[in-house]
Amino acid sequence: MNTLTVLGSGTSTGVPILGCNCHICQSTNPANKRLRTSVFLTTARGKKIVVDTSPDLRSQLLRADVRHVDAALITHDHADHTHGIDDLRPFCFHQNQSLPVHCSAETAQSLRRKFDYIFGTNLRPVIGGGIPRLHLQEFHSGAALITDEKFTMFSLPHGYVTSTGFMHGKLAYLTDCHSIPTAVAEQLRQADLEWLIIDCVKPEPHDTHMGYEQTRTALEQIKPRRAGLIHMGHEWDHEVLAERLIKDGFHGAAPLKDGDLIRYS
Ligand SMILES: [Zn+2]
Ligand SMILES: [Zn+2]
Repeated sequence: MNTLTVLGSGTSTGVPILGCNCHICQSTNPANKRLRTSVFLTTARGKKIVVDTSPDLRSQLLRADVRHVDAALITHDHADHTHGIDDLRPFCFHQNQSLPVHCSAETAQSLRRKFDYIFGTNLRPVIGGGIPRLHLQEFHSGAALITDEKFTMFSLPHGYVTSTGFMHGKLAYLTDCHSIPTAVAEQLRQADLEWLIIDCVKPEPHDTHMGYEQTRTALEQIKPRRAGLIHMGHEWDHEVLAERLIKDGFHGAAPLKDGDLIRYS
């Protein structure tokens, strides 16, 4: 059995949002406290893959008691998915190895620029605490290997950038996109998914993310057995969204919350 741990289920600001007095940000319900969106996969063969390195990564990996990482997969270059990349350093130290960071060519190009002290070509000799030992491995849409695990990668539109969604086993993960291309939805419907993890940033439409109606349409097209909504902002109260999905007939669907553990084959 493979597992996916939800390290964070929140939008780019996290929830609560700094300085916000709205009733969701002030909520005492732990399900309404969302770190930045990222997940951790442990495969049936024991491979450990972190998906996105959010700015909250250190506290997320401590909370999930992660002690080993074999590889990272970066869905796209936005700050809420990359700016915790230095938190991979301890694994490079403990494991005494360079870790592969898998991403699309578009994302790799941006990571080389943003993190030139890690991925640049003219690195200075390391003094002091050192830098993360990471190397980029680019994939294209379609089949890709992460460690020795088979993934299928999808290009998803996300405002000015292209984000990567993926399928591993009977689970698909589609965060940070404002629509699901028809061909991708059809491929996932035919895959008869056990689990679909999908973007649902807020009730209204959004320029770079899925609003409730877009998410609902995708669920109707893809027809996964179970679905978990992710990348939620402070417009969503966890219980209200859960009830709305049931009222709309999506009995296998629910908002995710930080710390959730999903099992899939
Ligand atoms: Zn994001
Ligand atoms: Zn994004």
